[in-house]
Amino acid sequence: MSSHNNHNESKTLADKILKSTQVSVAKCYQCGKCSAGCPVSSEMDYPPSMVIRMLQTRTPENEEKLLRSKTIWLCLACEMCIQRCPMEIDIPKVMDYLREKSLKENKAHEASKDIIAFHKAFLDSIEKTGRLYEVGLIADYKLRTFNLMQDVAIAPSMYMKGKLAILPDMIKDRKGVAKIFSKTIKKKEE
Ligand code: SF4
Ligand code: SF4
Repeated sequence: MSSHNNHNESKTLADKILKSTQVSVAKCYQCGKCSAGCPVSSEMDYPPSMVIRMLQTRTPENEEKLLRSKTIWLCLACEMCIQRCPMEIDIPKVMDYLREKSLKENKAHEASKDIIAFHKAFLDSIEKTGRLYEVGLIADYKLRTFNLMQDVAIAPSMYMKGKLAILPDMIKDRKGVAKIFSKTIKKKEE
């Protein structure tokens, strides 16, 4: 395979990811800590450690599965996986790359449209209210299908980063999230 490396088309996704993001999936030794800490892994078709494993196999079949996966659209870019990874592998960057490629090749999972649409509406709402409880609503909605950072161009990234920092705590506090969620609904009904 390496003899074909001079031809761009024959490069595997792992090669392309390394070149474009400097993230080396080869460093992963499958400890599973990323998947254990990921708040949305239970909703994913392939949890984050599996995504990295599939890239390591360098097979067109697995690459195709990843580009058509729901996982890449569900990633919240919360960075919990990076915090836990002993090799500090930047999985959200990998997810970003896969999303872009998936869109380019017209392979986006059918759920991605809803996720993107919801996502846009939601970021608008955050931008308007600037309220913390809206983040609670996101934390709850992420259980269905959601990717907060799918399109960072929608909101100023610094602003979103500030909001994002709150997410992991909110997810841990399920009761708090439920409370915030119902408050938000009430507010919307007024
Ligand atoms: S950044 Fe994505 S893959 Fe990593 S823990 Fe968060 S949701 Fe999971
Ligand atoms: S935490 Fe890091 S090393 Fe462990 S499985 Fe995930 S990506 Fe691989």
